Amino acid sequence: MAEQRGDGRGTGDVRGGGQDAGESRRRGVRPEEARAWEELVATARRTVSDGLVVGTSGNVSVRVGDTVLVTPSGVPYDRLRTDDVTGVDLDGRQVLGALVPTSELPMHLAVYRTTGARAVVHTHAVHATAVSTLVSELPLIHYMAAALGGPVRVAPYATYGTDELAENMLRALADRSGCLLQNHGTITHGTTLDQAYDRTAQLEWMCRLWLTAASVPGLSPSLLSGEQLAEVQEQLRGYGQRR
Ligand SMILES: [Zn+2]
Repeated sequence: MAEQRGDGRGTGDVRGGGQDAGESRRRGVRPEEARAWEELVATARRTVSDGLVVGTSGNVSVRVGDTVLVTPSGVPYDRLRTDDVTGVDLDGRQVLGALVPTSELPMHLAVYRTTGARAVVHTHAVHATAVSTLVSELPLIHYMAAALGGPVRVAPYATYGTDELAENMLRALADRSGCLLQNHGTITHGTTLDQAYDRTAQLEWMCRLWLTAASVPGLSPSLLSGEQLAEVQEQLRGYGQRR
């Protein structure tokens, strides 16, 4: 719940601006950023309507050039407006808007600095978060793990919003487009908001599948081998080229 702190809309002073030392860096919103913001808000709202996020317990970002547009901290997505565009540079300095960016900014920026990602989705989706408390890697219950780059790792726990959590996340994300965060949630990235969102939905679905299969008393689910997954990864590569 701590991620809901800092609702700039409620405090007045943040929204009014003028007190922040970073104010001078703020600039106008470019047309491509305005379009990206609309897509970001739609994606954020979808995480709520699809049950992946409760309240404001997740965040979404999209990269436009060297600017990262990101959901502000603690503002319900249905209250986000066209002129609420919130953006930072790759060092986290605010360049757009007056609302306080999400407290999970270090994770988002770490992904953009180290990968070619253009969008990041972070949630506390219930099944994925449950799995993050049980194992250090999601067992290979389904071949869709290949769509995330391989077996999904769990980043060791660290306090939300810290550089330590961002570092743990980066290690878990090596050669993957998604991972779980222990006792916290999910993070996925992609080349578009839709792709990052879909990866989160797939990850949550796989976690739900494993929990369901693993919960049958007296039985344990069969798992795929690394070889079987590699074959699927090979096929997925071909799939992309045939279109
Ligand atoms: Zn979180």
